[in-house]
Amino acid sequence: MVSITEKSMDRVAAAYHEAGHAVMAYRVGWWINDDGIEIDRHQHTGLSFPGEDTNSRHAGMVCLAGWEAEHQFHGKGGMRNAASLLDDLHRVIDGTGCDDWGDVEAMFQAMMTDNPGQPPAHYLRDGIECLHKTRIELRNPVVWAAISRLAQALTERGSLDPESVERIIGPMTQLSANKKLHSGIIDAKQ
Ligand SMILES: [Zn+2]
Repeated sequence: MVSITEKSMDRVAAAYHEAGHAVMAYRVGWWINDDGIEIDRHQHTGLSFPGEDTNSRHAGMVCLAGWEAEHQFHGKGGMRNAASLLDDLHRVIDGTGCDDWGDVEAMFQAMMTDNPGQPPAHYLRDGIECLHKTRIELRNPVVWAAISRLAQALTERGSLDPESVERIIGPMTQLSANKKLHSGIIDAKQ
């Protein structure tokens, strides 16, 4: 049996999860595409990225920010330690990934596309580095305040279009400059 309290907590946690993806996306120079953000049916954040951004560490940070934002919010879940990254690395390499870990799979897939043929230790090292950088970002008060504002708006409205997301996040200093228009889309799902 699921109580109303648990259910609404799940919903708020989903809002923080998706807000984490979205704010980190802006932080690395990506943006929300026309799919917007939705937390009730699919827990979905539609993201676009600059065509020349082949930096898989950006993808890694955007992917991990969902779980880490949830963890920072309620202290549960999240990528608590590197051992879970290792488990997921094996899942990706074995091709037996499970849906619950879609974000981590997406991160490792981006790394493998960027650096084909590397030994597993290479991807694991990059993954751990992404995890550390993501945590540092989320502890930045400006970043966390933006995530909290966005999560609150998502909890109230259930979904947000890209213009609303941008307005709520506000001006966000980017970690690195990206210039050209996007050529691809990534969907970061819970
Ligand atoms: Zn996610």
